[in-house]
Amino acid sequence: MRTRPQAPERINPLSRRVPLPPVSKKQKGSPHTEQEVRELDVPVSTPPAEPVCRNDKKNISQLQLLKPLPEVAALQKDVQQGTNFDLPLDGSEVTLSDIERCYDIGRVIGDGNFAMVRECCRRDNGQTFAIKIVERSKLIGREHMMQNELSLLGSLCHPRIVRLVAYHHTHTHSYLVMELVSGGDLFEAISERGKFPEADAGLMVSDMSEALNYIHCKSIVHRDLKPENLLIEHVAADICRLKLGDFGLAMVVTEPVFTICGTPTYVAPEILCETGYGVAVDVWALGVILYILLCGFPPFLKGEKYKIIKYVGPKIYVLTNIHTSMYNPFCIGLVRALLQPDPTVRLTAEQTLLHPWVKAMASNCRQRMLIDKTQRITSDYKVEFLNCLFVLLCSFCNGP
Ligand code: ADP
Ligand code: MG
Repeated sequence: MRTRPQAPERINPLSRRVPLPPVSKKQKGSPHTEQEVRELDVPVSTPPAEPVCRNDKKNISQLQLLKPLPEVAALQKDVQQGTNFDLPLDGSEVTLSDIERCYDIGRVIGDGNFAMVRECCRRDNGQTFAIKIVERSKLIGREHMMQNELSLLGSLCHPRIVRLVAYHHTHTHSYLVMELVSGGDLFEAISERGKFPEADAGLMVSDMSEALNYIHCKSIVHRDLKPENLLIEHVAADICRLKLGDFGLAMVVTEPVFTICGTPTYVAPEILCETGYGVAVDVWALGVILYILLCGFPPFLKGEKYKIIKYVGPKIYVLTNIHTSMYNPFCIGLVRALLQPDPTVRLTAEQTLLHPWVKAMASNCRQRMLIDKTQRITSDYKVEFLNCLFVLLCSFCNGP
């Protein structure tokens, strides 16, 4: 098991990995009390259960009856085809030994607030996956998180989003079989490296924006965009691409949402306002992540967080921690445009993708990937050429 390193001091103050469960369902027009805001700032050890609204009342047994979405059904068909894999893939209840008969469940590769993620291998065809194991007793009152992950993630298919392949439920646990993304998560990478060069940060912003643009076009808001939920795929020497995971807090947003939720460091100011919020909250979180990638620590340190909350407005903060002269002015411009307190003027995910700095950094990385690939091919050719030369020399030496 790869133990998660202790995050360095500088990221610790705000890195609290615990996402806040929705703590209150604000009524339109209800006063915005300081108390609710403070609740966001205290470590959440025993989070209050979410008030359950009608749609959230589906429990897991009802979930099992949900038909898989067409995309998931197609994937599941792929998985089943031509194999003797006999586990029902429609979510109907199975036993742990059924699961163990079909999957070889291996080492732990990650853990979250509600789940443990392990590597697993299908016994019939050797395919490897990540399996997210959720103890359902931990989800009492929050069953909708599992439902979201199954229904929303199951309906998505995008290279920058982790794929859900199948799911199974036992009496006590749920098992989500997902594409295995083997490079760890961005939280670990930040803990190890501190900060990243602009080019790498730019490619990551491009990847996150692609994923966000895709879900936002489907009116899905993720609401928990943070390094722990971004998985790393190493594509070439020193180049990593990101995939977005953990759709437990995601929802379809058709009108302003009032539920306060998220992880404090990444919570957009409008989540704390009574005006309601939408998909733009993910873009705020993207701005916070970009800031962390560039500096190695979050933009709003403990004390300052109150400032964001109290002084929401055009002059709520200055980027004091970032030495602006060290960075490309376009990059600083992007940080400001993403960490724009007013969601109506904040960049969208699509605009972020088209931002000149993001485009330049992404194309720089693409070139590096191409060079890396060419070098690898060239070295393969070199080896092949030397092999041929060797064979020729041998045959020459051995004579006719
Ligand atoms: P939780 O809902 O409990 O936060 P997550 O889905 O975020 O659970 O998973 C917890 C951790 O497991 C992640 O932070 C990541 O390190 C790891 N992880 C999750 N999904 C995958 C995957 N598909 N491939 C590899 N690692 C994963
Ligand atoms: Mg998570």
